[in-house]
Amino acid sequence: MFKPRLHRARQFFRTLRFRLASTFLLLLTIVLALVGFIGTKTLQSILDTQSEQTLHEQLGAMRGYIHFEDGKPGWFADPSDPEEAAAVGRLKNIFVEADANGEAYDGSPNAEFKALFDRNTILNEMAEMQATHEPIFKTITGKDKVQYQIISSIMNDSGNKWYIAEGRSLAEDHLVVNNFRRNFLIFLPTALFVCALVSWFSAGTALKALQSVDRAAQEITGSNLGLQIPRRGADDELDRLIDSFNAMSGRLKESFEQIRRFSTDVSHELRTPLTAIQGQLEVALFTATRKEQLQEAIENALQDVERLANLVRALLLLSQSESGQIPMNKTTVDMTELLEDLVDQFQIPAEGSHLELTQTHKGEPVCCEVDRTQIERVITNLLSNAIKYTPPGGSVRVGAKASGGAVHLIVEDSGVGIPKDHLPHIFDRFYRVPDPNPEKGLGLGLSFVAAIVKAHGGEIQVESKVGIGSRFVVTVPAGQIRTPLEAPVTATRSAGEPGADRLS
Ligand code: ADP
Repeated sequence: MFKPRLHRARQFFRTLRFRLASTFLLLLTIVLALVGFIGTKTLQSILDTQSEQTLHEQLGAMRGYIHFEDGKPGWFADPSDPEEAAAVGRLKNIFVEADANGEAYDGSPNAEFKALFDRNTILNEMAEMQATHEPIFKTITGKDKVQYQIISSIMNDSGNKWYIAEGRSLAEDHLVVNNFRRNFLIFLPTALFVCALVSWFSAGTALKALQSVDRAAQEITGSNLGLQIPRRGADDELDRLIDSFNAMSGRLKESFEQIRRFSTDVSHELRTPLTAIQGQLEVALFTATRKEQLQEAIENALQDVERLANLVRALLLLSQSESGQIPMNKTTVDMTELLEDLVDQFQIPAEGSHLELTQTHKGEPVCCEVDRTQIERVITNLLSNAIKYTPPGGSVRVGAKASGGAVHLIVEDSGVGIPKDHLPHIFDRFYRVPDPNPEKGLGLGLSFVAAIVKAHGGEIQVESKVGIGSRFVVTVPAGQIRTPLEAPVTATRSAGEPGADRLS
């Protein structure tokens, strides 16, 4: 019971909303506390300066109203001027007059200021003022616990020095500072409380979009991939997050669709030969009476098994090359020489189909850095397609040429051509152009070609016209070509059947 509550509390303190709001509040508290502290100090120093100025003025006025008669100081004011009388009255509130021996002569009758009449203090101050020629400021605490600021000075009466001091109460100044402090202490928690509420709600509103992303992510399953979250229209970071999420969701949907299509295609492709094998074996088992019949059934089944094995091998190779699992062993390869080899190997099947197979741009070395085995597979697939889809009497031409840091491999034929509608799909897995009289292919050859070309950082283009022929152009970057002396030993093609790498 206690533990889940603790866990919930811990989770609450970890929420982005709490952290945003509390960080803002903490910063605001620090800033406001600093403002309060600096404000109080500034106010205090302004009041101190003002108080000193007032005391200076009061001392000036005191000097004006004190006259010496028979060597003794006395206050003189115009009795007919009530303002003057009042001013003198105010000055007499806190004052002291003492002779050169520090003996007080006159002063405020108030017992609060007894400390002002201390002989030693008066003598010390007189000595200090004679040395510095500056008045002295001091603060004393009266018996009423109120602080008073006092200014002391010296007056001269024909050679005799007199000590005079004038003071003012600091009670009002303290009241101003205390009022400021009290008001600030009331304002601070109120302001913090209001800001806490505002920041809590604004953080909550801002993070609402995150919650919608969170909810959408939780709702995503295999059946509703591609779920889109509506944009808020604020064009801020959260809208960009929503955009990225929507784009990711779209990509996921596409990849899952592709995988689903692929699984369906594969099961379909596997089912056909499997059903055929099953049928042939059943027929042989239940109806074959002679050895030849059995042999024929087994041969047919073997053909289908071979087709199955080819399909599995092709799929494995395709998935390896698409996921980049086949390691690239790039070497410098002369394409013209490589094409010569392959054209030689394909001469027999071409002649068998009554086709003319020729190589263009012969004799010009066209070097580039590629994986020889993989590029051989590309050419093999394109060449066997060209031969397969060109009727007898036609021609197939292959050639390689270099231009602008790239190498172009061209395979063209005068064959049946590819209808315009089908052109964009021929590189898709298992895609075959419907043909009333098809020579069985897997529809994987061109997907494999595209994967290899992509792994080389190249591209493949195709132009085709029905009844006229097709032209495939593979472009790969030439890469860093090394002279034969520098070049590492290149993999030589193992002798084999032409089209051994053909995925069909
Ligand atoms: P397949 O095993 O069927 O040949 P590919 O992936 O190699 O599979 O080719 C896909 C489809 O593209 C083929 O079914 C064919 O219809 C078409 N195609 C490929 N190359 C040619 C070509 N040279 N001439 C006409 N059609 C072609």
